[in-house]
Amino acid sequence: MAAKEKFAEPTYLECGFGELEYKVIKSEICCRCGTCEAFCPRIEHVENKPALVNYDPLCGLCFTYCPRTFLDMGAMESKLFGRTRNADEALGIYQKAVSAQAQGPAAHAQDGGVATALLVAALQSGVIDCAVVTDRDEEWRTVARVATTAEEIVAAAGTKYTISNSVQAVKAALEKGYKKIGFVGTPCQIQGLRKVMLLEEPYQFGQDKIALLVGLFCMENFDYDALMKGLVKGKFGLMPKDVARYEIKKGMFRVIDKTGKAHEVKIEETDAFTFAGCGPCFDFASELADISVGSVGSGDGWSTVLTRTNAGEKLYAATLAAGVVQEKAVSEKGLALAKKLAAGKVKRFETKSVEMNVSGITR
Ligand SMILES: Cc1cc2nc3c(=O)[nH]c(=O)nc-3n(C[C@H](O)[C@H](O)[C@H](O)COP(=O)(O)OP(=O)(O)OC[C@H]3O[C@@H](n4cnc5c(N)ncnc54)[C@H](O)[C@@H]3O)c2cc1C
Ligand code: SF4
Ligand code: SF4
Repeated sequence: MAAKEKFAEPTYLECGFGELEYKVIKSEICCRCGTCEAFCPRIEHVENKPALVNYDPLCGLCFTYCPRTFLDMGAMESKLFGRTRNADEALGIYQKAVSAQAQGPAAHAQDGGVATALLVAALQSGVIDCAVVTDRDEEWRTVARVATTAEEIVAAAGTKYTISNSVQAVKAALEKGYKKIGFVGTPCQIQGLRKVMLLEEPYQFGQDKIALLVGLFCMENFDYDALMKGLVKGKFGLMPKDVARYEIKKGMFRVIDKTGKAHEVKIEETDAFTFAGCGPCFDFASELADISVGSVGSGDGWSTVLTRTNAGEKLYAATLAAGVVQEKAVSEKGLALAKKLAAGKVKRFETKSVEMNVSGITR
């Protein structure tokens, strides 16, 4: 059977790591989510990409759960929500949309601190027994961690605008014996984990230990080396260790240094630093998460929150009732802006999919 035909109707035994490498990694549509590395003992992160480090005894689970091999959103929505989206649901299916703000948020939380507050509440109430978060080192390189205390979750707050294979840290959480793993991350990472959770293959490899997915909004992400060399050092003359915060607001990419000085460029000027694998990505609002959190749609210091599944709704309601977050109505204008960005991302996906010869991903 020709490779192309195999990719159209894969079952876990028809395609293995070789096909994953050919279809996703070498063709640069890999988003470096780390899902393939998380659930397979033979796949590791080598030279900044997934690599097979041991003989593969003809197993194709990685091909089956990678979000870039094939992804049928209608089928995923039907399994997760019991229906597919309506035409006006540009942000995916959700129960409730609000603006929210954590009380006493971590000083370096990105927006309203709601992502952090939700994970802390989930840990303290026993919904999860650990949280996989994306922290950073002094040079702003991402470091995925298995956080088991509120302090560790709070320490990882704040957006790192560089690609991170954070899902791979789920492997460490499984190895340490955690049974209710929470995860926060970008839409592509959420897609990988949700695909794993909804898999209908008769094998247990840890998918039943994923308990909560907190998704972030994401329009694009950047390659660490390109961003640091081209923008932070090249344009702003800063060393990565001298950066206090990154933010994208009102069309500007802003770097705030440790003296408090802001350096900024129009977001279009950062196109050269965008990670290639972000091209064929349609998901702005982490449509397969239990609960999604972003900044677009709400004012400074607030987060836009979309509760999606019953688990997400229940966690948010409990966090609100405990007074850990406060909420207000999200404005119609704010929601319309988020929907416009989501639609724009779908358009970019359509163009890039043709350019990058992507098949099997349908929204
Ligand atoms: C790459 C990227 C692009 C984004 N683009 C947009 C956008 O276009 N529009 C928008 O409205 N919002 C965007 N966001 C989301 C926004 O930056 C905030 O994360 C979100 O509003 C939640 O804010 P918070 O204060 O509740 O989060 P916090 O409480 O500060 O928690 C943020 C969480 O994000 C996780 N995290 C940080 N960096 C990464 C990373 N690189 N990969 C995976 N997880 C990470 C950390 O583990 C932390 O727990 C983006 C986030 C990322 C990571
Ligand atoms: S997209 Fe994710 S799961 Fe697929 S090959 Fe890349 S890192 Fe692995
Ligand atoms: S744009 Fe898409 S592929 Fe890139 S980090 Fe965001 S969700 Fe992942």
